[in-house]
Amino acid sequence: MDDRMFRNAMGMFATGVTVITTTTDNEVHGMTANAFMSVSLTPKLVLISIGEKAKMLSKIKESNKFVVNLLSDQQKEVSMQFAGQLKENIDVDFSWSNDLPLIKDSLASIVCDVYSYQVAGDHTLFIGEVKDLVLNDGEPLTFYKGKYGGYAAETLV
Ligand code: FAD
Repeated sequence: MDDRMFRNAMGMFATGVTVITTTTDNEVHGMTANAFMSVSLTPKLVLISIGEKAKMLSKIKESNKFVVNLLSDQQKEVSMQFAGQLKENIDVDFSWSNDLPLIKDSLASIVCDVYSYQVAGDHTLFIGEVKDLVLNDGEPLTFYKGKYGGYAAETLV
């Protein structure tokens, strides 16, 4: 099967946008990701998928913990910063929970310990056990067909 066709098909799934953060040797590392899902209520588990070439892979293996920051529609630049899409870097404000960096003003920051991980092809799936949650009001940043967007609530009949 053609890679482009696979990518196009996956791009048809509209998602929110997250930035995964972690810290090693007192240095913060962040990475934009939309491969995120909720997994279990008891215990509270979530899942992220990290590419084999991403620096984030070794960082999470070392720290054994991470934060999933769900971005608002005011944070498109933050997403671009942590995807390496900006020509000039911007300053990002962090707050802290359980010695982990949270991106300020995210809709939610989900603080996790690594519960388990599984290599799946060229990605590694990390399941995180949720240790803390920080919530803020706002509307989500979305990603669809390779483009950022917003969200409009509408009743479908
Ligand atoms: P780098 O490429 O070195 O870092 C990423 C960027 O973050 C760099 O510009 C760096 O300067 C910046 N940065 C890192 N730490 C800090 C800091 N402390 N302060 C300020 N800036 C910092 N890849 C996946 O593996 N899984 C996904 O689910 C996924 N989803 C994506 C969804 C979207 C919408 C986009 C746009 C990209 C997605 N990617 C995903 C691709 C991924 O974001 C990029 O490949 C990213 O560059 C990989 O990051 P890295 O860990 O290799 O680190």
